[in-house]
Amino acid sequence: MHKLTLKELSAQLQARKISATELATLFLDRIAASDLNAFLHVDRDLTLAQAKAADVRLAGNDAGPLTGVPIAHKDIFVTRNWRTTAGSRMLQDYVSPFDATVVEQFNAAGTVTLGKLNCDEFAMGSSNENSFYGAVKNPWDKTAIPGGSSGGSAAAVAARLAPAATATDTGGSIRQPASLCGVTGIKPTYGSVSRYGMIAFASSLDQGGPIAKTAEDCGLLLNAMTGFDERDSTSLQRPKEDFTRSLNQSLQGLRIGVPKEFFGAGLAADVEVAVRAALAEFEKLGATLVEISLPKTELSIPVYYVIAPAEASSNLSRFDGVRYGHRAADYKDLADMYKKSRAEGFGDEVKRRILVGSYVLSHGYYDAYYLQAQKIRRLIAEDFQRALAGENRQCDVIMGPVSPTVAWDLGDKTDDPVANYLADIFTLSTSLAGLPGMSIPCGFGQGEKNGKRPVGLQIIGNYFDEARLLNVAHQFQQATDWHLREPA
Ligand code: GLN
Repeated sequence: MHKLTLKELSAQLQARKISATELATLFLDRIAASDLNAFLHVDRDLTLAQAKAADVRLAGNDAGPLTGVPIAHKDIFVTRNWRTTAGSRMLQDYVSPFDATVVEQFNAAGTVTLGKLNCDEFAMGSSNENSFYGAVKNPWDKTAIPGGSSGGSAAAVAARLAPAATATDTGGSIRQPASLCGVTGIKPTYGSVSRYGMIAFASSLDQGGPIAKTAEDCGLLLNAMTGFDERDSTSLQRPKEDFTRSLNQSLQGLRIGVPKEFFGAGLAADVEVAVRAALAEFEKLGATLVEISLPKTELSIPVYYVIAPAEASSNLSRFDGVRYGHRAADYKDLADMYKKSRAEGFGDEVKRRILVGSYVLSHGYYDAYYLQAQKIRRLIAEDFQRALAGENRQCDVIMGPVSPTVAWDLGDKTDDPVANYLADIFTLSTSLAGLPGMSIPCGFGQGEKNGKRPVGLQIIGNYFDEARLLNVAHQFQQATDWHLREPA
């Protein structure tokens, strides 16, 4: 049962082959037996109460496609009943007085919450090693990182501890862990998913999305989690759409842009082999490959690592020891309390970003760094528009690797923040442009260590082209079985 997709689980529930309570129990037992450190908070009673309510809805024929289906939430979405820590000591015992909009939407759909998932502190990181609560292990090879910041989400789905999970992506945090754990994830167009109750990292980049086994399941989850929210000032007012509407369209004639900058010197040979094989598979499905250029790709790293810390330094100023979270035990006066509480509550990477962010926003440096980064951000977005939009557009979707390498060893880059930043090269530009992007499993690296290490294919589309991305991914998943492979 734990191997089934959401779509299949939903059918089992509707046909009364299994109850929501039985299903929740099965996954809670799997979570209890796991040693991956993927979950931070599990509360059996709360979960089973939700399952019972779902069973009532199912019995009363008041059920939707997700009613009774268990999912888990990244611990960056606030929840009224489960603690919410954002992977930080700062919020160790924090219980939110309200549910995030995304959580509300899933509750309304009748999903059953299995618990809260580990992540890098305030979603800053690409290996999950920045969590105050310890790293998550990659279920494929427990000596490897799962990716980050949504490492708990990707690992939980890969290990079949949850059929699906919510996640967030600021510069790659849905796509990269999905890639490194061999599962499917999509970051929709910026503004599609409400950020209300999603603990803020970099507000102009943060975007929620799902991680699941298949593209079809991601579509079902997007149907539930997107939509206008007046409590989020950047939420987009658009009619509700069915993201699964195009899944079965043929890929005959699809033009796939292959950016030459995504296949340069930094790309590991084993990742390139798997990605090129996936591109060849798409050709078999009727698509044609077009070489394109996204010349500003390299600049996405310095631009992102100016803008994201700038916004973070502002967002994280709310953690002052007064209103939220950790407060130091001893202090002389108010300023001393701020200093000590923040020094104790935040980890090294978060402090590093607050320092960088405050610096680039400061008088005299604002123009040189922050403003300059904003201008280049615009040029990065224009690169994509030249390829994907207008009468002379070159392609319908763009494909390439998600991560330049397979998952690295736990501990390998912990002392080298810049090495972590460089690994974000293929995901940052999509985020800076606000475009939708996804990762689907497409193979494994060469040179097995203590287990195989998965490779993900990135699919990027123009604004609001999620249904097409899911169509493209679904057709690939109908023709291949990478997404069905499971860790030992
Ligand atoms: N790895 C990137 C960072 O550290 C992206 C994180 C994210 O998308 N939340 O900021």
